Amino acid sequence: MERYLRNIAIKEIGPSGQERICAARVLICGCGGLGAGVISTLAAAGVGHIGLVDNDVIEESNFNRQFIHKTEDIGKLKVLSAKARIKEINPEILVDTFAMRLDETNYRDVVKDYDVIVDCFDSYRSKFLLNEISVKTDKPLVHGGVSEFSGQVTVVVPHKTPCLKCLFPEADLEVEIPKGNISPVVNLVASIEALEALKLISGIVSPLQQGHLLTIDALKMAFRLLKINPSDQCELCS
Ligand SMILES: [Zn+2]
Repeated sequence: MERYLRNIAIKEIGPSGQERICAARVLICGCGGLGAGVISTLAAAGVGHIGLVDNDVIEESNFNRQFIHKTEDIGKLKVLSAKARIKEINPEILVDTFAMRLDETNYRDVVKDYDVIVDCFDSYRSKFLLNEISVKTDKPLVHGGVSEFSGQVTVVVPHKTPCLKCLFPEADLEVEIPKGNISPVVNLVASIEALEALKLISGIVSPLQQGHLLTIDALKMAFRLLKINPSDQCELCS
């Protein structure tokens, strides 16, 4: 526990909160830009069991923001590089790797052992798939998205808060998220996602767990907390 004294010194966490963090099982979906921040932050905080989902290999264009990967590992699977980084931070953390594309047919075996899912994917299709998985398996989902100077974060607590389908019922999943990304904005969103995961685990109540969406305009430094309501028309969660 010496390692976590500064976490424990926070009254909202304390020894019991840290024990919950060390016992937690978190599935991080995506080992790219958002994943880099979430993976390293949750490992440092002491999450005891981390699952990593990503089918991609490391490319040179990743390095402006994906700081957990090394130049010498270009061409290698991101999940393996991310696992190595976690083990450097704390060798005692248990890590499962899933080098696969998650879909409707294979997700149950992947998510069944985890308490919390964190969305670090980079397409609308994969984000809405995680939303569906969250609602169908009744596991909370920390959702985050980032593009250029814009970001957003919310927490889907199935059947308590609105899901992504309530929020964006007409979303076109084939539209590409603009590819521009700069590290500080990606890390800002990743840090907030990691914080919300730690709050869920340690029992700290957050507005994002109670039907709010945080939107970030990092160009204008405008942070907005928007109240969102479940939709009784939602084909997924209503
Ligand atoms: Zn819904």
